[in-house]
Amino acid sequence: MTPKEIFWMACDSTERQRAEYGPFRTRAEAETEARRLGFNFLVRYEHVLGEQEKVQEVRSIFIELPSASVEPAEAARKFYTRCAACGEAATHQEAWQAEVWADIHEFEHTRHRVRLFEQTRAEGLKEIGNWREAG
Ligand SMILES: [Zn+2]
Repeated sequence: MTPKEIFWMACDSTERQRAEYGPFRTRAEAETEARRLGFNFLVRYEHVLGEQEKVQEVRSIFIELPSASVEPAEAARKFYTRCAACGEAATHQEAWQAEVWADIHEFEHTRHRVRLFEQTRAEGLKEIGNWREAG
């Protein structure tokens, strides 16, 4: 049998640009640390070793933690825009996307005014007042 080296990392997403923390020898250790950090994923790395214990092949498997885990505040936060005049609404990951949406909407519809809300799991919707004047 080919020798293998197996270890676990806690990570915040499955993206290429993810943050990882570890390594841990067991899944349980990685899971504990992931929950502490508010990370939602684990990666199981398998290094297939060749001659002189050189890594020949890397295999990785992502595991999403059950939803009971605490999400990082950043990931749980969304921006929500709604037009006060016509009611058209949209959600955005980033504040600048909300701003672009409002710019386009207010440009296409004269005298419409878009309101901005911040949506978090903990607090629900919260209006951000005077956001168009601020910038
Ligand atoms: Zn409108």
